[in-house]
Amino acid sequence: MPSRRRFETRAIHDGQAPDPATGAVIPPIYQTATYAQDAPEVHKGYDYSRTANPTRAALETCLASLEDGQFGLAFASGMAAIATTAYLLNPGEHVVAPDDVYGGTHRLFVQVLRRYGLEVSFVDMTDLTRVEAALTAKTRLVLVETPTNPYLKILDIAAVAELAHSRDALVVVDNTFATPYLQRPLGLGADMVVHSTTKYLGGHSDVVGGAVVTSSRDVYETLKFHQNAAGAVPGPFDCWLVLRGIRTLALRMDRHCANAQRVAESLRGHAAVQGVFYPGLPDHPGHALAARQMAGFGGMVSFTLHGGDPAARRVAAGLRVFTLAESLGGVESLVDHPASMTHATLTGSPLQVDPGLLRLSVGIEHVEDLIGDLAQALGKAE
Ligand SMILES: *Cc1c(COP(=O)(O)O)cnc(C)c1O
Repeated sequence: MPSRRRFETRAIHDGQAPDPATGAVIPPIYQTATYAQDAPEVHKGYDYSRTANPTRAALETCLASLEDGQFGLAFASGMAAIATTAYLLNPGEHVVAPDDVYGGTHRLFVQVLRRYGLEVSFVDMTDLTRVEAALTAKTRLVLVETPTNPYLKILDIAAVAELAHSRDALVVVDNTFATPYLQRPLGLGADMVVHSTTKYLGGHSDVVGGAVVTSSRDVYETLKFHQNAAGAVPGPFDCWLVLRGIRTLALRMDRHCANAQRVAESLRGHAAVQGVFYPGLPDHPGHALAARQMAGFGGMVSFTLHGGDPAARRVAAGLRVFTLAESLGGVESLVDHPASMTHATLTGSPLQVDPGLLRLSVGIEHVEDLIGDLAQALGKAE
């Protein structure tokens, strides 16, 4: 039996064979809402584009392959993908999630799904005894997100999955920060992987999208039913953009990781910097676990300043190569002040983020330009 093709090859070819009708090397953008039928119910597998579209099918096939899963589903956004996994639950059932879960996911569970009778507990998942204590007879879903945002904590996917499965709960991993190039949760025991393809998979900050991948036919059938029933599907051009991004994912992630490592090391040596959070640093508490669970440490770096909030704001405003903006995972470097931007809604809560913290999405520019930019901006910290 021929050996399975490797990740980089699958990223470029899976779901993307030349178009049988024309030979087009790149999957066409099937910008159509509906499809001709030869007779009622006699068609070529496509009847309406909410239900299925060939450009979306190409993306879904590729995503499933990269996550080592059987089935992929693409959505209009990461939040649409996560919301669709919640359709697996019934009123009265319980979800366990990390206490520093992505803010949009926190908002969905607390402000929307609780109204429909779902219970949610947020726990520090670096402590497995707390995960175990949070599981109840009604727990149906355990959500894991690793590395976390913005402190880049590393959670043990295999250990959490074992605990969850001992209680018959399903495990979903938000793999947005790591990408399937660095981490494949299905092989570690997860039942589903979700993505915001807006981030590294798209990779160019030009599209919003989401995905779910699973190897369980039951889970897939239920999610596919709800994908069509609720209808939060991506358009064909958005699918095409995500696929184009995916073809260079491996190259980009190698550079993101290398640049982030150098940036983290340079920050640690700076007098204005208090602490640096990057799993690639040997003294990061999750370093050994990340080295085991991931094939690289990713492109996100957070750090705190001795000068607190005013210093963080001065540095953020003083950067020239890094752009001050929300989001992450694009080729260009971004800086975020979580306390006032991405995590502002947590102000005053126990999960409040240090106002002296900055989060970097380290891009693939020349690393010396990034390090130089940080050095000049840090000079304005005082
Ligand atoms: C951005 C993000 C989401 C939400 O995705 P959208 O595409 O913005 O809807 C979910 N999880 C994580 C970890 C994210 O970074």
